[in-house]
Amino acid sequence: MEIIFLGTSAGTPTKTRNLTAIAIKKRNYKWWYLVDCGEGTQHQLLKTGLSLLWLKSIFITHVHGDHFYGLAGLLATLSTLGRKDPLKIVSPVGVRVFLETIFNISQEPAFPIEFIDPEEITNTSDDDFDISWIPLEHRIACYGFIFKEHVIAHRLNIAKLKEYGVPSGPLWGKLQKGEYITLDSGEVLNPHDFFMEGDKARVVAIAGDNSKPELFEPYSKELSLLVHEATYTEEAAQKIHEETGHSSALKVAQFAEANGLKNLILTHFSPRYRDDSESTPSIKDIEDEAKASYNGTLSLAKDFNIYTLNRDEQLSCVEPQLSSN
Ligand SMILES: [Zn+2]
Ligand SMILES: [Zn+2]
Repeated sequence: MEIIFLGTSAGTPTKTRNLTAIAIKKRNYKWWYLVDCGEGTQHQLLKTGLSLLWLKSIFITHVHGDHFYGLAGLLATLSTLGRKDPLKIVSPVGVRVFLETIFNISQEPAFPIEFIDPEEITNTSDDDFDISWIPLEHRIACYGFIFKEHVIAHRLNIAKLKEYGVPSGPLWGKLQKGEYITLDSGEVLNPHDFFMEGDKARVVAIAGDNSKPELFEPYSKELSLLVHEATYTEEAAQKIHEETGHSSALKVAQFAEANGLKNLILTHFSPRYRDDSESTPSIKDIEDEAKASYNGTLSLAKDFNIYTLNRDEQLSCVEPQLSSN
């Protein structure tokens, strides 16, 4: 699976970080899914290998502007590109009101939109994932989306098939379906001898703004990766007296450690934190705080980082060459 960060700043963009948007997809598949769509997301997309032609569905965590103001422009571009397929948008109802207002005063999209209200429905299924969601704790209704991949139940052991001289084609198809086959030599093969060990489905949670990471506790056993905001350090959070509805790096890290999460990516950093580690305050302050309380694989997202989560739930990161096409 791949998780690509299109924006990692909270509230307002900075020179190096756009507003929140995250793409998730199966590796080597073209289809991808978008979680949140801050203003400028479609411009960010131009600098990645993702194509809007292959956008499957959209998930919006909540109706704070930095998480969805980019939608109207992105949908207009989809129409220009000739999209005809329906587009699923899972979002609080305010997003629907926002978009329909724009459609009324400007232009309708050239394709149907299926809106799903997360208050009424709790999950959906697409070609690549089952997606469910949970309500989070924020100043307004906000959700965390949990992507569980579909796995092929009976993946064939290709090396073993070659070793037995089974020619690719219909015989492989029969084995896949669990049927016995007979080779030209007369040898009969049992399909169960050629199945790989069952693949474990990888599960990735992408949280919206949230002051209670512990809301993910019921899912912690199956989570391969949690992507969560860490808007501030704990010290800064303590200084802000009003309730912000956000988590500090310390809070998320302590939750991840206590629940044995293997992989944690932090994002949605307040613009006050600079990328230059010599500045005060800097993103490194957030990283240091999280590192001190969490022993799993930790990463602080940057715009355009591509994370790969392999079948063994190992997380790796590539900071890609930006495409100029
Ligand atoms: Zn936010
Ligand atoms: Zn918010």
